[in-house]
Amino acid sequence: MFAAAQRYIQGPRIINDVGHYLSLLETTRVGLMASKRGHNVIGIEISSSLNKAGITSIPLTFGGECSLSEINSQVDAMLGQDISCLIATGGGKLIDAGRAIAFRLNIPVVIIPTIASTDAPCSALSAIYSETGALNNIEFYPQHPAIVILDTDIIVGAGERYLVSGMGDAMATWYEARVCLKNPRTITACGGRPTLASCAISEICAQTLYKYGEAAAATVRECRNDEAVEHIIEANTLLSGLGFENGGLALAHALGNSYPEIQIVHQNFMHGEMVSMGLMAQLCMEKSDDLEKVASFFARVGLPIHLGQILLSTKEQNILDVLIEAALEKPIAHNMLMPVTHESLRKAILNAHNFGLDICKKIGDTAYRRLHK
Ligand SMILES: [Zn+2]
Repeated sequence: MFAAAQRYIQGPRIINDVGHYLSLLETTRVGLMASKRGHNVIGIEISSSLNKAGITSIPLTFGGECSLSEINSQVDAMLGQDISCLIATGGGKLIDAGRAIAFRLNIPVVIIPTIASTDAPCSALSAIYSETGALNNIEFYPQHPAIVILDTDIIVGAGERYLVSGMGDAMATWYEARVCLKNPRTITACGGRPTLASCAISEICAQTLYKYGEAAAATVRECRNDEAVEHIIEANTLLSGLGFENGGLALAHALGNSYPEIQIVHQNFMHGEMVSMGLMAQLCMEKSDDLEKVASFFARVGLPIHLGQILLSTKEQNILDVLIEAALEKPIAHNMLMPVTHESLRKAILNAHNFGLDICKKIGDTAYRRLHK
């Protein structure tokens, strides 16, 4: 099975063309959801472009958490407004809330991310949180976004750490898809077996990261945009998005999605950074020849590669137990080709940690320290 957003549009300053793209949906009245700050920055440009295309926008301010109460109150606010499409512009939680709201209103959603730190924008699923920010569940929707619009100058403006975190999330995609393709028991988030198409896309995603990742990070550091940056934004968002949803997930995300259980990690690190640590452990468990290649890449762009770099240590056995148990509870952990047990997972995490320390000795941690001051 293979499913995707209907249109993906990427380029510098395309925020000024949103009205034109929206006219493809034959809508004349849309909801425009952004954060308070987002309305003042990007919202003004979007609504002026919509106006030029004869589309009226109704502003909606996101409360900050993708929780059921926030979703329901936004749905209530939009009912009776005669809106035929919802634009969601901002970071991960806002986009997830946008998808959930549009689904409940039975209208198409247009996603305009302001960061490229995860591969979530193109997908048809949302992570729903409690009022206090704990992950409650994942909702899956029958429809993908009608359009995903990436203004690459806006993504550059968000800064290096977001882009690099997205590279960590995107690098895992190929290694997880590869496991799922080989394992006849795995089913993807789209509800079917992985396709050769999704595997090919995931592999190109990893190749793009290796080829352009370091250069793109350097360019973004100088607040510039170039071909490498464009390629990495596509890898982080489109290639990884199609890859993870249609190719399947495995241990890297089982661990990456369990790290937030540890408060200090949850408060200080991004999804892609936690997935990087998860991928290192997955590759250790697989005894993969690519471990050194991945770890060296992570060290060069500044992703964490040992426990110290996510503020943990091997002495904290009970904290590692929490992480391991949370990961084992996730069905995707068991997509691996070998049995994943408490002991085998502990061994993989510790082996990855020691390997990461060795790589740090070889390559240094300059990039990591620059992003984690
Ligand atoms: Zn992810």
